[in-house]
Amino acid sequence: MITAVAAPLNLHNLQTIGELEAAVHVCRRCRLGKARSCAVPGDGPAPCDILLVGEGPGEAEDKQGVSFVGRSGRLLREKLVELGQLDPGAIYWTNMVKCRSFAIEPSGKKKDDPPHPDCIRICRPYLDAQIRLVAPRAVVVVGSTACTHLLGRPIAQCAGSLVYDQVIKRYYLPLIHPAAAVCSEDYMDMFLGGMRGIRYFLDVHPEIRREAAAYAVAAGA
Ligand code: SF4
Repeated sequence: MITAVAAPLNLHNLQTIGELEAAVHVCRRCRLGKARSCAVPGDGPAPCDILLVGEGPGEAEDKQGVSFVGRSGRLLREKLVELGQLDPGAIYWTNMVKCRSFAIEPSGKKKDDPPHPDCIRICRPYLDAQIRLVAPRAVVVVGSTACTHLLGRPIAQCAGSLVYDQVIKRYYLPLIHPAAAVCSEDYMDMFLGGMRGIRYFLDVHPEIRREAAAYAVAAGA
């Protein structure tokens, strides 16, 4: 499919996460915007110390306009509490693209489909602006698409490891996508290992856990 070339998006003048989320809600810059039910900009406190980024909204997110509320998202939230000992309300949740990418099956049913690289490229300024406004110390990178585009390497090579960007002084924690984990015991082991890695990282950096908890309390989570 041919995607129309969009002019570069300049979001440097946006000062708040609310302004950015409002811009996403009216965006139609790539083909995903024309087929969505709801745009899903992101959810959570800003600024905060942990930002989590996945591939894109699924069916439940597209219906509700809220990030990570489908089956995979619920598993992710549950394991963050159980194994990461982290309050999901203390995290800013978002995706590489803010609108659902899907294909139509022969039965006519919509099926989630990885977003085209053109859509990821066109949408990327929104994520960059979110990272600027949320200013996280650590970014949890969920799944293959986010890992490839943010870290430039396959998730299988770095899941569960810790990547530190010395220039911007930010940690990246790559994590197997929960949708892959529920389909394979090996991936589930890697997913759970990644969760334990997040917990270990937070234990080594207690200031991040403490401040993340404070954001959750302030937000009424
Ligand atoms: S996916 Fe991103 S660039 Fe495409 S329409 Fe949605 S918000 Fe706009």
